[in-house]
Amino acid sequence: MSRIFVVVWFSKAFVVPALALIVISGLLAMTLLRTSFEATSSLADAVCGKVIAIDPGHGGTDPGAIGRGGLTEKDLVLDIAKRLAALMNRVAIYTVLTREGDRTLAGGQDADIAYWKREDLDKRIEAARNAHADLFISIHANSFPEPMWSGAQTFYHSKSGDSKHLASAIQEQVVARLGPNLRKIKPGDSYYILRTATMPAVIVEVGFLSNPREEAMLGDPDYRQRMAEAIFHGTVEYLVEKYRSEKSARESHLKPPGEAATGGGSLKTTDLTLRAEEGEMILYFGGPTNFDDSLMPEIRKAPGDYSRADLRRKAICIVRELISGPAGESVLSPTIPKGTSLRDLWITPDGVAHVDFSSGLSKNHWGGSRSEELTVYSIVNSLTELPDIKKVQILIEGRKGSTIAGHIILDTPLGRDEGLIEARK
Ligand SMILES: [Zn+2]
Repeated sequence: MSRIFVVVWFSKAFVVPALALIVISGLLAMTLLRTSFEATSSLADAVCGKVIAIDPGHGGTDPGAIGRGGLTEKDLVLDIAKRLAALMNRVAIYTVLTREGDRTLAGGQDADIAYWKREDLDKRIEAARNAHADLFISIHANSFPEPMWSGAQTFYHSKSGDSKHLASAIQEQVVARLGPNLRKIKPGDSYYILRTATMPAVIVEVGFLSNPREEAMLGDPDYRQRMAEAIFHGTVEYLVEKYRSEKSARESHLKPPGEAATGGGSLKTTDLTLRAEEGEMILYFGGPTNFDDSLMPEIRKAPGDYSRADLRRKAICIVRELISGPAGESVLSPTIPKGTSLRDLWITPDGVAHVDFSSGLSKNHWGGSRSEELTVYSIVNSLTELPDIKKVQILIEGRKGSTIAGHIILDTPLGRDEGLIEARK
């Protein structure tokens, strides 16, 4: 608490000299030049006094993803978060770190992360809300089953125009400063942090620990500093842009742009001209290349008397085939980790398939929020190809509200997400 007090006192006492210093030192010269920002006082208004919650993912007994060289997500994201906070404090932006040490935020801890992760994530949002944070920036690292995947990527919530604009500004800076990187921003509506945050929130995945080259770069303090600078400059760009648009809206007596509704235009499976014939099933696996990190369909001939089986038997068959992974000659990536088994599956009259997996689904998962999302929706989308299954509730060891890799809490039945499916024509 004393740390926050010092920052507040500092900014109140030195706000004018501090802002003069910004301009003199040219710390934000790039921002100023690129946005043709007219008045220095406006820049001050845009950033000064803003409160930003910085959330280093994982911590304590939850290491997050782990690189082959041993670098852990929890350590590297904490380091980047602290560097980012230092940069922001220098321009009189207040910061709140959701954790400052190697710890989780949940109280009494079960041995199994799935049982306390939700409380941990809730406390991160609570810390941001208590501090009246204007923005929430969660920092993570990614990991995929194949080492070739690389590139930092920012995720937003599709219901929040501000979240999308912030993600876009950060991604632009990350690409410009640390490229080459062809990754674009993506919606991550199922991530618990993004769907429960009460302020515009983004998740910055700073790179892939499963890629040896990127793990080595993330292990370098200079690279982490440049990553923090990229996130910082992107955030400032966003704040300045938002201030400008609100100011011009005020001046022209127009209402400021509201939360832009995004989304729409999502792909239907029928657009893929894919249709399972009698005795066939459509399964979803991970894309084949670095830039196809979406779900891609595979039509597979079902074993045995699938076409005559009842709904439950069909669903069990689909899950078993998903667990077995893409076909031998396929270039697609598996979404279910090895050592996972199906414990039980039942379908309630409301069309919800309850699928109970063994703990291998979370214990053996490679980590990373995007790969967790692909795992979840490979199951949901494959099962909802059956017309009588509307939603899917995933359970782990019989338990609802679990998590596979700590970013998505499985507390509610999930509907199909067509937006995650890549069209290959
Ligand atoms: Zn993570």
